[in-house]
Amino acid sequence: MSAIEQMRQELTLLQQQNNLRSLPALVHEGREVLIDHRRMLNLSSNDYLGLASNEELRREFLQTLTPENFLPASSSSRLLTGNFTAYSRLENELADLFGTEAALTFNCGYHANTGILPVVSNAQTLILADKLIHASLIDGIKLSVAKAIRYRHNDYAQLERLIQENHEKYERIIIVTESIFSMDGDEADLATLVRLKRTYASVLLYVDEAHAFGVRGLRGLGCAEEQGCIADIDFLVGTFGKALASSGAYIVCSQVIREYLINKMRPFIFTTALPPINIEWTLFLLKRLPAWGTLRQQLSQISDRLREALKQKGYACPSTSHIIPLIAGTSSSTIALADVFQRKGFYVLPVRPPTVPEGTSRLRFSLTAAIEASEIDQLIEIIA
Ligand SMILES: *Cc1c(COP(=O)(O)O)cnc(C)c1O
Repeated sequence: MSAIEQMRQELTLLQQQNNLRSLPALVHEGREVLIDHRRMLNLSSNDYLGLASNEELRREFLQTLTPENFLPASSSSRLLTGNFTAYSRLENELADLFGTEAALTFNCGYHANTGILPVVSNAQTLILADKLIHASLIDGIKLSVAKAIRYRHNDYAQLERLIQENHEKYERIIIVTESIFSMDGDEADLATLVRLKRTYASVLLYVDEAHAFGVRGLRGLGCAEEQGCIADIDFLVGTFGKALASSGAYIVCSQVIREYLINKMRPFIFTTALPPINIEWTLFLLKRLPAWGTLRQQLSQISDRLREALKQKGYACPSTSHIIPLIAGTSSSTIALADVFQRKGFYVLPVRPPTVPEGTSRLRFSLTAAIEASEIDQLIEIIA
């Protein structure tokens, strides 16, 4: 059989299993999306604070632009000529906000997670990673030569046992977790992880705050701010593409780690830097982030409302955040359910294997501060 024929058969199989993916033809209109002229409220966006759909912000930013400072290309990697001044302004702002020695930015979270883990680990390293971490972290682990063990989701008793059994056999142990988890919307207990880490000198902690940055903490710096443990996390990573309505990612860390990454990390070294205009936009938003507490409260209130309703209707709801799954079971029942919501004007998407384990296909409500409480109530009416 030819390679192409083999691929075709695999695609057919995916289709038969209701797991075939395709790119939707979407037209965006602020908080809404249009598909085949069907208008729906977007409940699948990571624009958690509603900033990306906020025209006023874009207008304000546009007023700062001139043909001279509108720089749409960096034309080089940062180590060559792509290191525009906006980069150090952004990294200084991040380090100031977080109160860390240093910060470093990347083109995206995928680059951050696949790039950092392989260089901060070696053959004498053991990576202990939560079972439900994001694909980019999994790929980072695959690219590293370290030995890796996945512990059961948020099972810190198992994690502690693994540390006890192994800390003398390895030079270094790195615990890897998300703060808010992508698919269940539940959270790591950062305080417990920090306590564990402090018990053993060789343990380092890596936390991905992609879903929490912007959303949690008094100034929106994430769960680590909320739980008062920013300084205790060795690798504190987050992204700009979700709540911050931009793109890119950061690590806030020590000066040594920053310098080490600049020298070693391949997705940092061998890629064209993000356009300066994008960095300016990120900085424009980052400076305003601490003041958007009202948006964070609004998001928290509508999230509570939806989670409570799901529980009352008998659904198991692991979420403690603005990411709220409705676990339906099979792929086909989830697709059918998504269609019901879409017909009623709510753009909710099914999440299926391999993104989530077999038998736990779900609708994933990803709420934003641009959604009204009355819209949540309409949504609740539809849920059986
Ligand atoms: C979205 C996401 C990423 C990837 O970030 P991008 O900037 O979109 O590449 C990494 N980690 C987690 C947990 C995410 O949810």
